Amino acid sequence: MAKALYPGSFDPVHRGHLDVVERATRIFEHVTVAVLENPAKVSVFSADEREAFLREAVARIPNCSVVRFGGLTVQCAKEHGASVILRGLRAVLDFDYEVQLAMMNRHLEPTVETFFLLTKSRYAYLSSSLVKQMAQFGAPLEEFVPPAVVRALRRLNVTEA
Ligand code: ADP
Repeated sequence: MAKALYPGSFDPVHRGHLDVVERATRIFEHVTVAVLENPAKVSVFSADEREAFLREAVARIPNCSVVRFGGLTVQCAKEHGASVILRGLRAVLDFDYEVQLAMMNRHLEPTVETFFLLTKSRYAYLSSSLVKQMAQFGAPLEEFVPPAVVRALRRLNVTEA
């Protein structure tokens, strides 16, 4: 069985991401979730916070771990013994970008394959940016993000108000 690397910004992690992780851990021997640390990409939560939210959310999944990365995804995959890069797909909107990434990664490292898992329909419209917007306007968040993220988003609002 192969090991997979699931890279992303996870700013913040939501239930669509976690659903992909849970399903992937039933397919792959191990899933390493890799939190992107990219100074050029502005994020609402720090890499430390994003990593901590994920660690808490996957703590009960034995064949899942969380790491940070700042370089090439294929390099990170090799470092963690992963022969698969895992990505989630929502709608056609994701498709162009994901195909570009997958092609470039294949060019860089032909031995690493990209796998896509389709989102569950109930999470098809869920994104980290939408969650942040909903938080700004005080919408209920419990259905979409884990409890630690709900608390952090609420704190963010209080600080910004
Ligand atoms: P990135 O900045 O790399 O796109 P994200 O944190 O936005 O990072 O997403 C990480 C991965 O999770 C991507 O493959 C993305 O398509 C996938 N993803 C995001 N939202 C969902 C969702 N609602 N259902 C399934 N997969 C998702």
